[in-house]
Amino acid sequence: MLLVGITGGIGSGKTTVCKIFEVLGIPIYYADDRAKLLMHDNIKLVAALKEAFGEEIYQNGQLDRPVLAAKVFNDTAKLEKLNSLVHPAVAEDSVNWQMEHLDAPYTLREAALLFEVGTYKALNKIVMVTAPLDVRLKRVMARDKVTEEQVLARINSQWPEEKKIELADFIITNDGQELIPQVMAVHAELMELAVRG
Ligand code: ATP
Repeated sequence: MLLVGITGGIGSGKTTVCKIFEVLGIPIYYADDRAKLLMHDNIKLVAALKEAFGEEIYQNGQLDRPVLAAKVFNDTAKLEKLNSLVHPAVAEDSVNWQMEHLDAPYTLREAALLFEVGTYKALNKIVMVTAPLDVRLKRVMARDKVTEEQVLARINSQWPEEKKIELADFIITNDGQELIPQVMAVHAELMELAVRG
């Protein structure tokens, strides 16, 4: 089974690109969305989070994200604790998900921090979506109704583009030039790899 990762900085358009792969019938594991879901639904994880961060992080059975975020903000040890609880749950969930898609030619795993948290090492190929900084700033400011400074702070917490591009196997440039032909070309190469084994 060919396991492919797809990533890109904030506002690069990785979710938009994933929608095109979905149309092509490729199953996509959205790691960040799944993590959020597991923090609600995985009984073991919920219990561990309550023990580590206090019962108050859940209100009426719902995770109170701002309360949890305030606890880990600027506290590396707590952030590491949070990751050490969430990552194994996501890893287990993604293996189960993978087993449900054994008939696919390849699968995609989408994550914003694929390189930063080291997940890329367990994948066979990496697709990186990239776009110029000014374009990303404009997109995220419009989408999330936030200031340029807020977007820049998020961008600066991620690895620089150059470092990620070096480690990627395929680059999709989402700067306004046509996106679908680029996705089709990457898909064709991945299908070829999948067939060759
Ligand atoms: P994040 O990491 O913040 O979730 P992302 O990399 O997944 O971002 P998207 O959500 O796909 O990025 O795109 C960011 C915004 O830019 C969205 O509002 C999307 O509709 C828009 N966008 C993406 N690509 C294009 C494009 N080629 N042309 C116009 N708008 C685009």
